[in-house]
Amino acid sequence: MKKINVAVDGTSSSGKSCMARALAEYSGLTYIDSGAMYRAITLYCLDNGLISDGKVDEDALRKVIDSISITFAKNDNGLQDTYLNDVNVEKQIRGLRVSNSVSIVAAIPFVRHAMVARQQAMGKNKGVVMDGRDIGTTVFPDAEIKVFVTCSAHERAMRRFRELQSKGDTQVTFDDVLANVQMRDKIDSTREESPLRKADDAIELDSTHMLLDEQNRWLIRLYDNYKEQP
Ligand code: C5P
Repeated sequence: MKKINVAVDGTSSSGKSCMARALAEYSGLTYIDSGAMYRAITLYCLDNGLISDGKVDEDALRKVIDSISITFAKNDNGLQDTYLNDVNVEKQIRGLRVSNSVSIVAAIPFVRHAMVARQQAMGKNKGVVMDGRDIGTTVFPDAEIKVFVTCSAHERAMRRFRELQSKGDTQVTFDDVLANVQMRDKIDSTREESPLRKADDAIELDSTHMLLDEQNRWLIRLYDNYKEQP
């Protein structure tokens, strides 16, 4: 079969990264978590004093953005970890400190252009499954398979809350997580530059009442059906 790209977009914590990862494992496609890239840039900003009172020092960020290295490598459990300037930041980028600022960083046009260019370079020879918000609309508008995953905000916050707790983050409350999910939905879908939007040719999946395993199997079936096409 010819190599293809798969775009998995949707709101935060809708299960799209698990689906994309499961498909990568099944198919041999390379998984890329585009959200981790925005999270890594946000961590850089927070650690270097480039965000204060919810405002990003855009001039300072513009000067350094091309020199910030973001890479991925598999850990001993076979999962992908994110590296910021060669330091493993996987745990830090998933916490609420980063989640609370990532959408304002990701809404800055020059940040998006820089990340989209890196993402397009990773997929230019095809063979990639990438999850995010604008993969089907902007990063890979010619992706062979496009999926848009939705899920109620309450269910998404519950999933994320359980995940944070299982990782030992016991400080955070369900209400904090729900507020963050709602805030990111609003910023992501109303920003001017490549907002969160279903591509016209994407297939929509409402995952509110689905188990993760069902979601994974749904995407794998879609991929298998695509492969069987003449
Ligand atoms: O997917 P995840 O929730 O980790 O993404 C974190 C944030 O990064 C999103 O809330 C959104 O603001 C931003 N993002 C984006 N475009 C993408 C992926 C993520 O704007 N392709």
